[in-house]
Amino acid sequence: MIKAVFMDIDDTLLDFQAFVRQTMRDGFARFGLPAYEERMYPVFHQVNARLWERIERGEITRADLLDLRWPVIFDELGFTGDGRAFEHYFKDALLHSAIPVEGAEDLVPWLAERYILCAASNGPYAQQETRLTIAGWLPYFRHLFISEEIGAQKPTPAFFDTAMRRLNASLMPGHSGPVLPGEVIMVGDSLTSDMAGGRNAGMVTCLLDTSGHAQPDDRVDHRISKLDELKTLLGRI
Ligand SMILES: [Mg+2]
Repeated sequence: MIKAVFMDIDDTLLDFQAFVRQTMRDGFARFGLPAYEERMYPVFHQVNARLWERIERGEITRADLLDLRWPVIFDELGFTGDGRAFEHYFKDALLHSAIPVEGAEDLVPWLAERYILCAASNGPYAQQETRLTIAGWLPYFRHLFISEEIGAQKPTPAFFDTAMRRLNASLMPGHSGPVLPGEVIMVGDSLTSDMAGGRNAGMVTCLLDTSGHAQPDDRVDHRISKLDELKTLLGRI
C-alpha cells in the first residue's frame, strides 16, 4: 500500500517549459537580442538536458551549470551576447515563476489529504520553496526534499536515503512503523533522475510523460500522460 508520494517539481507540478519560453521571449527583447522564435526553445532544452545529465553523472557541479548554460545556448543560436548576465536574469525570473502543469492545482490538495506528500526536487532550496509558496502549495507538503539542502542530487542513493530517514524521523510516536521504500511512489518526468533514483531506492515509480515521446523503458512501474491519471492509478495499486 502506498503511504507517501514523492513529487518532482519541474515539469511535473510546475511548468518549467512554459516559463522558459516566456523568459526567452521577454529576455531576448530586454537584452536587445534577436526576437524569440519557437525553433529556439529546443536549443535551450537540449543544452539544459545535456548539462543536467552531466551533473547527474557527477562530471560538473550546479555552479558550472550557471556558468555554462546560457553562454552555450547563445553560442548555438549564433548570438553574441552576455550569456552569464542572461543566466542571472533567467534565475531571477525563475524564482518568481509558478505556472502549474495541467491538473496540478487539483492534484496537490487531493494527494495531501490521502498521503504523506513530499517534494523531491533537484534545485536550490529557497527557489523551490518560493515557487511552491507562490503556487499556494506549501501547506500541502509534509517535507521538501530539495537537493541543495539534502546535499545530494536525484538519482543518487544519498538523496533518497536522507529523504527516507527524515520522513521516518518525523512520524509521530505510535505511528504504525516506519514507511518502507516500497510504500513510496516517486512521480516525475525524468527517466534519469526521478525514475532511476526511485527504482534504485526500492520505490514504486511513475513517469509523467505528457509528450508521449519518452523512450519506452520497462523498468518504469507506471506511466501516465496527464497528472490527473495519478488518482486512478493510486486507487488500484
Ligand atoms: Mg522534472
